[in-house]
Parts: sequence; structure tokens; C-alpha cells
Amino acid sequence: MKTRMGKSARQRGDDGSTAGEENFRIEKAKARKLRKSQWWLQKVQEGVCHYCGGKFKAEEITMDHIVPISRGGKSVKGNIVAACKPCNSKKKYYTPAEIILREDMGNDVTF
Ligand SMILES: [Zn+2]
Repeated sequence: MKTRMGKSARQRGDDGSTAGEENFRIEKAKARKLRKSQWWLQKVQEGVCHYCGGKFKAEEITMDHIVPISRGGKSVKGNIVAACKPCNSKKKYYTPAEIILREDMGNDVTF
């Protein structure tokens, strides 16, 4: 439907899985580092969920990648948000493959 679909298919083919796995490890490590940063600690203190806008206790706040690492997302401040546990697990309900399917086929697709 969109040019994005063809592009991501080509990327998967060219890069190969090894590069993807390496990238995954790097981004995971970066996320771990960010978790200890002042920036993140402040977000946890604020306790505001990016998705539902609710206010939560620090222990209820989880780190969430807007674009998952498995989809090429980076562990950068612009891609990491604070999410409450219910919102985070709601998102996790879909596997990356299902999210790709939904994006390619339209959001009206249900599983
Ligand atoms: Zn929430």
C-alpha cells in the first residue's frame, strides 16, 4: 500500500538476521543505560503514562519503546516513553509479526 512496506521488506533481505540481532543487543544495552539516567528517573518520578495519561506510582511505570527494537526502533529519548503496566502489557499482547500485519493490512484487522 505504502512505499514503506517495500522498503522494510528490502531492508530485511539485505541486512540479514545477524546484523539485526547485533543491533537488537546494542539497543537493549542502550536502554539499560538510559534506565539509570537522570532523564528516565525523572520520568518515573513524574509517573505519567504516555498512552493513557494516567498518573502512577514509580513502581508501576515501565519503559516502553514506541517503535520496538525488533522493528528497527532505537533506544533514544524520542523513542522511549513511560508506560503504566496495563498499557505496556496491552501493547505486548501483539507479537511483532502481528503488528507488522496490522500495519500492512490496516488497523481494522483483528486477530
Ligand atoms: Zn497507561
